Amino acid sequence: MIEYAKAPDVEKSARDIIATLQLNHLDLQRIQFYRSRGSKSRGVQARIHGLGRIWFDALQMEPNYIIEVISERFDQLESEEKDKVIIHELMHIPVGFSGGFVPHKGRITTRKVQTLYENYLKVARTPVSNA
Ligand SMILES: [Zn+2]
Repeated sequence: MIEYAKAPDVEKSARDIIATLQLNHLDLQRIQFYRSRGSKSRGVQARIHGLGRIWFDALQMEPNYIIEVISERFDQLESEEKDKVIIHELMHIPVGFSGGFVPHKGRITTRKVQTLYENYLKVARTPVSNA
């Protein structure tokens, strides 16, 4: 039996990443963050969930996403790796925030995640000028 709990720590990291990288298409009001325990899936640190667009039409709601981190794997990672996992999952959300997913193939690569992560560090470390 998988147990789910809200993951405010993951949400906070995502908030920092989105603000720093100015990923303005990502509406945090419509992304939920969960931590699961007891998942049988091996090798998975996190995943993103959505619903087909027809569901959002039928439920008369805007598209929403859920990013789930798998406690057994995610929580063992260094914070740098955690941030990269979060960046990876956020990259699955298309610019149109349609409810669909950006596929891995050519779009979400280790290298692209690394580049975004390095930009994130660079911007985050740049002191804000008061001049
Ligand atoms: Zn992925």
